[in-house]
Amino acid sequence: MKYEGTVYRPPSEARSLIIQVTIGCSHNKCTFCSMYKDKKFRIRKIDEVFEDLKTARKAYKNVNRIFLADGNALVLKTEKLKQILHKINELFPECQRVGIYSAPKDILRKSLEELIELHRLGLKIAYLGVESGSPNILNFIKKGVTPKDMIEAGKKIIASGIKLSVTLISGLGGRQNWKEHAIESAKVINEIDPHYLALLTLLVHPNTELYRQIQNGEFTLLTPNEVMLETKELIKNLNVTNCIFRSNHASNYLPLAGTLPKDKNLLLKTLNNAVNEKYDYRDELFRSL
Ligand code: SF4
Repeated sequence: MKYEGTVYRPPSEARSLIIQVTIGCSHNKCTFCSMYKDKKFRIRKIDEVFEDLKTARKAYKNVNRIFLADGNALVLKTEKLKQILHKINELFPECQRVGIYSAPKDILRKSLEELIELHRLGLKIAYLGVESGSPNILNFIKKGVTPKDMIEAGKKIIASGIKLSVTLISGLGGRQNWKEHAIESAKVINEIDPHYLALLTLLVHPNTELYRQIQNGEFTLLTPNEVMLETKELIKNLNVTNCIFRSNHASNYLPLAGTLPKDKNLLLKTLNNAVNEKYDYRDELFRSL
């Protein structure tokens, strides 16, 4: 397989075969994101993708999951994605799930029928970076979409039968807008009602616009305790039907996991204890190194 540059995938795709169908991210403007700054976006030729799939077939006996990268692979035309899914079905009949990173605009550009067809061909999970539900914060981070776009896109994925995993980022409103970030994000998540919700914590890379904004005082990072207060406000306001919630990424100060709404009180209790103790899971990790 010919991987180009650093390849990213969601934590739940750790055991998946990763196939780059695009290189980079077609948006590549979010102020907090450094993932694809060194890559010029392009769509890979179908022959190259097929070559990678054939190489992987020879190398691996059993492939249960395949993840299509890079940043927003759903940007591919439906016809091309269908060809790739057909090839996956032909070469990997044992594959149970194909996953993909999807940006809201790419989802909205496709018809519901197209998404249903992709689901039928094996696309079983889409990852959508909502980041924040606040229009001001989405604007500040240059996400290029509104909360309304996020809601429409998320609902469309769910209506197609594809499972939806969304991501929010703790601390993205900074000290100035933490409450707005928590409350507005909860509103968007409640409207979408996703199958999975992952809450990461903002980590700032020097190679980003946000880093420069912090340096010149335009943005103030939250302390670990403030992040937990913000998370508490978010969870308090969440009102979803049946959502697997995870906040146990390496970036998080306190590992949290549960199913909402069933575990809401338990999660709030854990957060209350942590806020009172000023608990920092990452400190503990570093101390143990
Ligand atoms: S956050 Fe997502 S959409 Fe924004 S630049 Fe990074 S990969 Fe692209």
